[in-house]
Amino acid sequence: MINDTLGRNLSAHNLSHIMIIVIADKMEEEAIEELKKLGTVVYKPENLNASMENADILIVRSATQVTKELISHAKKLRIVARAGIGLDNVDQEACKNKGIKVINTPGASTNAVAELVIGIMISSMRGVQKAHYQMKNKIWDKKNLVGNEIEGKTLGIIGYGRIGSSVGKKAHVLGMKIISYNPPPRHQDELVKYIENLDEFLAQSDVITIHVPLIDSTKNLIDKKAFEKMKENAIVINTSRGGIIDEEALYDACKSKKIMAAALDVYSTEPYIGKLLELENVYFTPHIGAGTKEAQERIAKELVQRIKKELDS
Ligand code: NAD
Repeated sequence: MINDTLGRNLSAHNLSHIMIIVIADKMEEEAIEELKKLGTVVYKPENLNASMENADILIVRSATQVTKELISHAKKLRIVARAGIGLDNVDQEACKNKGIKVINTPGASTNAVAELVIGIMISSMRGVQKAHYQMKNKIWDKKNLVGNEIEGKTLGIIGYGRIGSSVGKKAHVLGMKIISYNPPPRHQDELVKYIENLDEFLAQSDVITIHVPLIDSTKNLIDKKAFEKMKENAIVINTSRGGIIDEEALYDACKSKKIMAAALDVYSTEPYIGKLLELENVYFTPHIGAGTKEAQERIAKELVQRIKKELDS
């Protein structure tokens, strides 16, 4: 039995004239209210497969996998909408084959992720996470907490798209030199110097931050060989997608202090419970890049606008 947000049983016989919007993943109240203006909302149904039968629109974040199998239960699904950017949890080919349009909200979380990167970068350079943990354990060890400043350092940005270029602009204002590894086609920007060769790029960067999609050419882009090219005091930040850094190679590089530190917001499997958690020079956040109130509001607005546009076309 599928219920809408008012708890009404949506039995099949009375559904032909109403738009059914199934929200599979957690969504803020404001966004749900906006979506209710478009039709009847079914929020986090217990049986997602069964709810597909009557759905016109399926909305997901990153948790639900929109597989060929899930789509096979759909009878009148028109749109799969991803609240966010990455479409790696959506089988786009399966959707295309069934004439289902896939949409997302590409620009809404850019600033939230870029600000998180700046925050992580400064706190990693100053050992803020370590200092916090020590004080919570009643350790006052200021002499071993001598950090580094970001001004004058080189920030290497892998992927100079929406988020990468936003990080670049903010870091430039803070006095960093900006280089990027991003094969053409590229965003033209006076702030950035593109480096063609990945090894050279890695060798020049003090901080490396990753902002590429997870595709064949970026899977394990940062592997054992890449860590060998980095500076000894390099810091690597990944807020893009798990799987772009080889986590085994990262573990070895951080454990052996080949690099100074790493900070991760995304993981090959989430929730992440792997062995990187044992290391004191790897800092963690649980995929919160887009997790600001402002970004969530922008995502909700952009989502509703894009759905309306699709329905009108
Ligand atoms: P974007 O498409 O605007 O930019 C991606 C850039 O990567 C482009 O400039 C592209 O040319 C470049 N690129 C592609 N292949 C490359 C390669 N092999 N090597 C180097 N560069 C390559 O994407 P965006 O909006 O900036 O998002 C970047 C990443 O951030 C995505 O993976 C997205 O899923 C992720 N993201 C994470 C969060 C989070 O919560 N942590 C939130 C939003 C987005």
